[in-house]
Amino acid sequence: SLSDRLNSALSGLRGKGKLTEADINATAREIRLALLEADVSLTVVRAFINRIKERAVGAEVSQALNPAQQVIKIVNEELVQILGGETRRLSLAKNPPTVIMLAGLQGAGKTTLAGKLSKHLVKQGHTPMLVACDLQRPGAVQQLQIVGERAGVTTFAPDPGTSIDSLEHEMGTSHGDPVEVARAGIEEAKRTQHDIVIVDTAGRLGIDETLMTQARNIREAINPDEVLFVIDSMIGQDAVDTAEAFRDGVDFTGVVLTKLDGDARGGAALSIREVTGKPIMFASTGEKLDDFDVFHPERMASRILGMGDVLSLIEQAEAVMDQEKAEVAAQKLGSGELTLEDFLDQMLMIRRMGPIGNILKMLPGGKQMSQMADMVDEKQLDRIQAIIRGMTPAERDNPKILNASRRKRIANGSGVTVSEVNKLVERFFEARKMMGQMAGQFGMGPGSRSAT
Ligand code: GDP
Ligand code: MG
Repeated sequence: SLSDRLNSALSGLRGKGKLTEADINATAREIRLALLEADVSLTVVRAFINRIKERAVGAEVSQALNPAQQVIKIVNEELVQILGGETRRLSLAKNPPTVIMLAGLQGAGKTTLAGKLSKHLVKQGHTPMLVACDLQRPGAVQQLQIVGERAGVTTFAPDPGTSIDSLEHEMGTSHGDPVEVARAGIEEAKRTQHDIVIVDTAGRLGIDETLMTQARNIREAINPDEVLFVIDSMIGQDAVDTAEAFRDGVDFTGVVLTKLDGDARGGAALSIREVTGKPIMFASTGEKLDDFDVFHPERMASRILGMGDVLSLIEQAEAVMDQEKAEVAAQKLGSGELTLEDFLDQMLMIRRMGPIGNILKMLPGGKQMSQMADMVDEKQLDRIQAIIRGMTPAERDNPKILNASRRKRIANGSGVTVSEVNKLVERFFEARKMMGQMAGQFGMGPGSRSAT
């Protein structure tokens, strides 16, 4: 398996302090293959790997992980960050109705999405109305009406008696003016007080100018609050071209990935996000109206990387290491031996663990540890980290030796003022005292640790 290959390629590298270029290169090949297998576009893969290299060289290797795992962890974090960057909810108009236009190739899943999105919005207390502007494909209007009925919402459609020329209809060519229908639909929504309008549009099998012009004309006529670009996640390497064509031809504000129930690894998500910078907002995972959710960057990152087993291994290894450290710290805490090094470790650990941090609270002393971490915010934590890293090991072990000249040296070295150093040291002594008292109170001195 991939993880076996990685482990054997890197078996000699375990236990080094910092990631080197060799570590990263050894892993980069596997990462590149994984991304290409997931159908991430070649240029995006290249740019991504280069960024990872920059970020990873010199990164500290956590004691819990080998370098390969460390690189993969960084890759995964970067993926989550890219995919989740600027994630946001639908932006609603100040003066309703909010207009949401759907655009994308034929078969991408726009009409189905109109129903899914309606149902989703109804659950949130909205009163959406659908507007049928695909007058291209025979049966498209009726399909939207059926979807609307299932979702329990009203569909606005052109009157078939006036807009369908029977000859044109038989030939399957265009009839009626989608721009006019879109306008009339929005007027109707205002009149009948629907707070959201979802405008379904026509698509073609390939990108073509007529389609783009029509979509652009609709957009210009109705000035939507959101234009959602709907794309089939199975589209693979064509994702970039298609997304660029729609960006340039119609422009869009957000992306919806469909057919994620298929076996596509979802590289299209990364390609589109990298190339257009637009947020991925929703994910469709089946033909039924409920097969729909907001987009989850972590799930997609893990799917694209296809290293779920490695990722859960990493998580486990870190959790175990964190737990061991927490137990040692809790013991020290009870006996009043806590050092500044432990203090920093604990705070960084709590920050890193996020929700797993709850585990810590179950350990003896863990609750006090998290209270300690709650005392500082993220920015302060960075400064605290800089200060403590600027100390010698002896100073961290025994902060009592921190006299004026040492404090001045530390302040200069870590780019902070002496008074910030003073404050930290003061706070540390207070915390240690406070926690020592608490530990005593709860019977957690040395030798009295309760089983967990
Ligand atoms: P449109 O041409 O963009 O309006 O696409 P449709 O909404 O008509 O969908 C085209 C086909 O894809 C239909 O058969 C849908 O049932 C199907 N479809 C849409 N979304 C999904 C999805 O998320 N998963 C699966 N498996 N099928 C989907
Ligand atoms: Mg359709």
